Amino acid sequence: MIKVPKEFDAEEYRQWALDNIYYKMYSSKGSKTQNSIFNKLREHIQNDQMLNKDLRNYLLVESNLINLLVGSPKEILNSGENLEGELFTKHFVKTRYPELRTEFGGIISKKLNLRICPYCNRAYTFSVQKNLGGNTKTFQLDHIYPKEKYPYLAINIFNLVPVCAACNHDKLNFSDEFINPFEQSWDKSGVAFKWKYSDETERLVELIPHTEDFEIYINHKDIDFVKNSIQALGLEEIYSEHKTEALEIIKLAQKYNTSYIEELSKYEGLNLNEFKIKRDLLGPNLDAKDHHKRPLAKFTRDIAEDVGFLKPVEPPDS
Ligand SMILES: [Zn+2]
Repeated sequence: MIKVPKEFDAEEYRQWALDNIYYKMYSSKGSKTQNSIFNKLREHIQNDQMLNKDLRNYLLVESNLINLLVGSPKEILNSGENLEGELFTKHFVKTRYPELRTEFGGIISKKLNLRICPYCNRAYTFSVQKNLGGNTKTFQLDHIYPKEKYPYLAINIFNLVPVCAACNHDKLNFSDEFINPFEQSWDKSGVAFKWKYSDETERLVELIPHTEDFEIYINHKDIDFVKNSIQALGLEEIYSEHKTEALEIIKLAQKYNTSYIEELSKYEGLNLNEFKIKRDLLGPNLDAKDHHKRPLAKFTRDIAEDVGFLKPVEPPDS
């Protein structure tokens, strides 16, 4: 998984979401007052006869309510509060979430600056405006904690992430532990794409494989959320279809060997060095911090490392 960009600031995002999403969702047309979210929701809470007394009292505390919108989902889950209530399914899941998705999905995607699906790193996730009007969305919003199981997190800003339609579909209703792009990255989870010959023969650098001769596989730490995510998203199967792209990298590495790169670097007029040559060959955004900018960036980086073309780098802390 590709983590939200390094420059992401959770506190700033929280305030941005209150100002730009929730105040607008809950205020009467035109008005924007500090208390509008709470006042509007209080009507629902007070009118809901099905709501048990404890939950009603809990929700009538403004900070608790705001926390459900912009607090950390993990902390909400760990708080031990019993948040079982039809209110959340009726109001959050069925009414407010569709509104949030339609009205604010585009600005969430822009704000997070995730151009590529954080789950598969293959599809773009930005939205564009068509000339004739209306949003043409190239992404869907995923509930990191599924809204069917956790309706009280259905409109929480840290539970929503733009992903591609295929990943969203694969993850639908998947409620086991899953990687969270706000907290974890593939690199930090020890996930790396590798290749090997299908018949286990020793890999020879000078031997150019054919697409049918080798396999792509994924190395990763033995952690539940990593295994679940790879399996549910079918990443091993999907990436095994990228052998053509892997082969291009393997061939580049063989052609642009150390002595060839040294030769090229000597041409003064070209102003080249090893880094520039490799970047020109493989494309930009190969550092872990930039993997959210280009499809297959992590795959390209990993295969280039695996074949010894790029030096391994320590994944960044955030
Ligand atoms: Zn995806």
